[in-house]
Amino acid sequence: MTGEFAFCQECREYVPFFISDKEEVWERGGVSFGIILAVARCNKCGGDIYLPEIEDLNLENLRKEYLRRLGQSRSGGRNLPKES
Ligand SMILES: [Zn+2]
Repeated sequence: MTGEFAFCQECREYVPFFISDKEEVWERGGVSFGIILAVARCNKCGGDIYLPEIEDLNLENLRKEYLRRLGQSRSGGRNLPKES
């Protein structure tokens, strides 16, 4: 990831960035879990930078993890709360 630039909202210019990990807790359909998400950060100010390809990657990881957890809780014999 060298030589790439992205627009930083804080710096208001195109800056070099790096990818780091961020742990978040997601909850959906009564299933909550922690997941490591990739986040692009500005090399200058360290702020988060929105990148569509990173978002796509995170959504894909999230979907896989969600399905995995869903399978686990079902096989565990617990009743899932109904979605309201
Ligand atoms: Zn910045």
